[in-house]
Amino acid sequence: MSTRAQQYDAQVLRREQLSDHLVRLVLGGPGLSGFVSTGVPDEWVGLVVPSQFQSRYYTVRGWTGSELTLDVVVHDVGLVTEWAARDVVGDTVTITEPKGSFAMPADAGWLILVGDLTALPAMARIAESAAVPTRIWAEVPDDLSAYLPSGADVTWLTPPWDGQSRLAEAVESIDWPAGDGYFWMAGESAQMRAIRKHLMRDRKLPSTAYDVMGYWRGVAQRQPRAVDPGPVWRAGKAAGKTDDQIWADYDDARER
Ligand SMILES: Cc1cc2nc3c(=O)[nH]c(=O)nc-3n(C[C@H](O)[C@H](O)[C@H](O)COP(=O)(O)OP(=O)(O)OC[C@H]3O[C@@H](n4cnc5c(N)ncnc54)[C@H](O)[C@@H]3O)c2cc1C
Repeated sequence: MSTRAQQYDAQVLRREQLSDHLVRLVLGGPGLSGFVSTGVPDEWVGLVVPSQFQSRYYTVRGWTGSELTLDVVVHDVGLVTEWAARDVVGDTVTITEPKGSFAMPADAGWLILVGDLTALPAMARIAESAAVPTRIWAEVPDDLSAYLPSGADVTWLTPPWDGQSRLAEAVESIDWPAGDGYFWMAGESAQMRAIRKHLMRDRKLPSTAYDVMGYWRGVAQRQPRAVDPGPVWRAGKAAGKTDDQIWADYDDARER
């Protein structure tokens, strides 16, 4: 018997323009009363906006027990982007149950976070909860220095004029700390695929030492094959693979 994933209806209570490209939406209302955070600092929800049926994923930037904060990147065109660019206060949206992926080993001595603007909400939440020395590389178009915890060790990278992320290059030139730690990265999918290969083949990191997620797909990329993620997920789980290994299998299947 299949169980339908839990969904919640919520109202947009407030909308705040944090910078040219980042909009904060605070959701609330009685429909959120059953919502339970996973506590995993990169947790995300699926968001369905009015008159749409497709969802897009957004990091839970904050959950107070009654209000849920999502920080949404407003880029050129897109289903959520065009909705969020307007005055959406009072609109009803649907969100899905939260899921998280960040899994830093207990003995990690340092943490590296790398991402673009879509990853900034997760990097901020992770950095707020981290108890080990943390270094951040953020490729963002706006001045958001106050967005990350004060005192965070951040290298701000300006996105190139052509819109093509250069995060993979940045990671390849990182001076890695000594000892064992944890590497978390998210952003445009092609950059993430390059980095997974770099971490596995060049740095030979065990899959438990990193988590790399494609958050969005750039238009310049060759359109990948549609692959049903369900069988890949089930086969990976049955084989005892980590979430990251399953993401890599999924990417490979789409490229083949
Ligand atoms: C686990 C997870 C967590 C995420 N958390 C966040 C978050 O907290 N905040 C956030 O803003 N995003 C987040 N994202 C990314 C977000 O889901 C995508 O950017 C999504 O495609 C945006 O939907 P849209 O409707 O605006 O654009 P779509 O309709 O999906 O895409 C329209 C066009 O815009 C392009 N596009 C999509 N995203 C971007 C972008 N960021 N910059 C430039 N072009 C883009 C696409 O290539 C496409 O051509 C997350 C993704 C995942 C998987």
